[in-house]
Amino acid sequence: MVESTRNIMLKVDDDLCQACKKCFANEACKGKAFRRFEQDENPFLDMSRCWGCLDCIPVCPFKAVVRHLYKK
Ligand code: SF4
Ligand code: SF4
Repeated sequence: MVESTRNIMLKVDDDLCQACKKCFANEACKGKAFRRFEQDENPFLDMSRCWGCLDCIPVCPFKAVVRHLYKK
């Protein structure tokens, strides 16, 4: 079954993220959904820019991009 972006929720786990100088997950993201206000902080995900490709998950070397499924 193909999942709709509406039931995919991703986040950056702050305990795992190492605030890499260049975020590999954002490099892989076509929507550039990983945002940060300061260069040295962990990025956060703007899900309004996400289309659910999940390319960001395997490229993070610290497995900091984690996934949730919404259940109604
Ligand atoms: S999400 Fe992953 S690749 Fe991006 S800054 Fe955090 S640890 Fe690095
Ligand atoms: S799932 Fe795709 S579009 Fe969404 S944040 Fe990850 S790489 Fe970007």
